[in-house]
Amino acid sequence: MAGWMRQIVQAAICVMFVWFGMFDLGGWAVYKGEAAREAEAVPASMHSASVSYYEAQPLLTEPVSYESGKELEREKPVVKAAALPNDRAEALSQESNQKVVYLTFDDGPSKNTEHVLSLLKKEGIKATFFVLGEHVLEQPKIAKRIAREGHSIGNHTFNHKYERLYGSFTEFADQVMKTDEAIYRTTGVRTTLFRAPGGTHSNFDQGYFDAMAAAGYQVHDWNVDSGDSKRRGVPASEIIATVKGSKLADKLIVLLHDSAGHEESVKALPAIIKYYKSKGYSFAPLTDKVEPIQFTVAKKLKWSREKVTESQRAKLAHFSEALGRSSRQAQAEQKEPVLILHRGEERLELQPAEYGVSKGAIEVSLLKLTEWIGGTAETDLDNGVIEAYMNGNRLLWLTGLADRPSNQPAGQIVVPVRETLKKFGIGITSFVYNDEQREIWITE
Ligand SMILES: [Zn+2]
Repeated sequence: MAGWMRQIVQAAICVMFVWFGMFDLGGWAVYKGEAAREAEAVPASMHSASVSYYEAQPLLTEPVSYESGKELEREKPVVKAAALPNDRAEALSQESNQKVVYLTFDDGPSKNTEHVLSLLKKEGIKATFFVLGEHVLEQPKIAKRIAREGHSIGNHTFNHKYERLYGSFTEFADQVMKTDEAIYRTTGVRTTLFRAPGGTHSNFDQGYFDAMAAAGYQVHDWNVDSGDSKRRGVPASEIIATVKGSKLADKLIVLLHDSAGHEESVKALPAIIKYYKSKGYSFAPLTDKVEPIQFTVAKKLKWSREKVTESQRAKLAHFSEALGRSSRQAQAEQKEPVLILHRGEERLELQPAEYGVSKGAIEVSLLKLTEWIGGTAETDLDNGVIEAYMNGNRLLWLTGLADRPSNQPAGQIVVPVRETLKKFGIGITSFVYNDEQREIWITE
């Protein structure tokens, strides 16, 4: 835009501010004052300038599904726009619904885990898998699939051998560490969820509990035992009957098994899910925010062993902290992907610095976006105004630049992509937004 024209437009904008002075422009008070002073010099003919405008800040529309909770999940499921409303509704209902079931599957992964995962996917349910380190090493693909499909993974020790685990804390802690390491190296997930083989009652003493808590683990027992491992080959009908006969509470942590030989648990699962759904429960995976259900410490333990020492405690805590640190570091080093916009055959690639997510909306560089769709954009940093033109449509942003760092270059001004395109009559047909792939397809 020519310099003189720009000045006229700016002047017109200033007039608009005077006219609409009753509008609450919040942080714009200072600018409004300056605008009012400048407006005195504007010829009356400019008063008819028709300028549509909106403020950039509140323009956040439909949020994208942006999962940031799971650490280092390298293979994220693709999220299509069409799937979003349901996902959001589900997330909302989980928040507002008081009654939650946490299905937990112990001793895997095994071939049975795959059937469990498929059933959960069909039902749209997330659960928790307390895995054995040695099984993770044997079935890395299935372990990866658990993480990829959005379930929680917990540590269930390396080999489940009671005598060794509860004979000495040194052996117990070694297995916890070895399993954490196996889970992390295989799936990229750094878990702090733990379940004691056989449960904590009469196996854990207070020293075990304290050492695990000091190292940042959440130790989860259960309040519904499906009874699927009380002997070999418990039939599905009996498992279902046991679950249905168990006491209900707002929070249920259900013990099931998905290791080899537990085909009957897989068979029982659809009926168990149906039962809890009929009772108005929602389903969720355990996270480090869920308060664990723990058995009381038994007066008499099954085992005789030495008390947990300070150095044993410190070793586990040190390991856990170091693993957490390296996982956070790896996460930070993970490079953000480019964002690709598609319009027919044409594509626009935006580097990580040129886009971002704010309050659930994807924001992109205004200049790049406008030029790509065939329009022009200009920014006036001093006055905090951005103008964009396309097909004779003129859009004007009040950018709130006064609140932004004054050294922000004009080229880095970002606007919500969906709302901005909408103003130009362009829609978003679909998009993918996850840790590895970020693409948006727009109408031609
Ligand atoms: Zn177990």
